[in-house]
Amino acid sequence: MLFLVGFTNYIGYDETNFLLKGLDMKYKGISKLALLTCMLALTSVTLAQNTQPHTGVMTASIQSEMTPQQALQRLKDGNQRFVESKMKNRDLLTQASATASSQHPIAVVLSCLDSRTSPEIIFDQGIGDIFVARIAGNIQNDDILGSMEFGTKLMGAKLIAVVGHTSCGAMRGSCEKAQLGHLTGVLQKIYPAVQQAAKESKTKDCTNATYIDQIAKDNVLLVMKQIRMRSPVLDNLIKEGKIGIIGGMQDVSTGVVTFFDDQSIMPKS
Ligand SMILES: [Zn+2]
Repeated sequence: MLFLVGFTNYIGYDETNFLLKGLDMKYKGISKLALLTCMLALTSVTLAQNTQPHTGVMTASIQSEMTPQQALQRLKDGNQRFVESKMKNRDLLTQASATASSQHPIAVVLSCLDSRTSPEIIFDQGIGDIFVARIAGNIQNDDILGSMEFGTKLMGAKLIAVVGHTSCGAMRGSCEKAQLGHLTGVLQKIYPAVQQAAKESKTKDCTNATYIDQIAKDNVLLVMKQIRMRSPVLDNLIKEGKIGIIGGMQDVSTGVVTFFDDQSIMPKS
């Protein structure tokens, strides 16, 4: 009986009716209406359990036992949920309360200022799950590096993820050598990626979307190298296998984040 009820969550009305007819043969003393009522009640309980808000948060023990690969997998799984519109139903206020006295995030994500690229959303993460550094063009600088050192060396995050995206205005701005106040300096930091993409691409047309996306990918790879070159603290953590570093690109039209697994540095275990 319970077996049948469980399955009615996954089968249609006709199949349920068919099974009920079969049950009539065995349970002659039980009316079809009573069976249906029982099944609906238990189905409601199952559905209620499935929609219970998620209140769990990262703890010190979860974080300390997590490998960089597992932290990466959490981001990949979260992005899969986002893409499939199956994001967790979170009780964010409860999570805020649960993390008020301490936090144990699993990763540091460096992403663009772009309004379409919020890491907590596209990786379906809750409060206290990830550190996020955001800046136009997901570039690095002394302050970003210091923040990453804090997030990993001092706070125990296991992964650095540099995530660029398609249709990035900062890439196009750098390609066009745009100048505006402090933005000029930001765009200059991206320019080595423009030069790199120019070698790889057939076009240097800054209005060509494919070319701009190539610049964005080269910029991610360049920033990953710069992080290691400019921060001995982070480079040592990577060499010791305590953290991993990976790059990726978000397609803003689909939400899909493609990680560059072959360009990552991840400990094997
Ligand atoms: Zn951008």
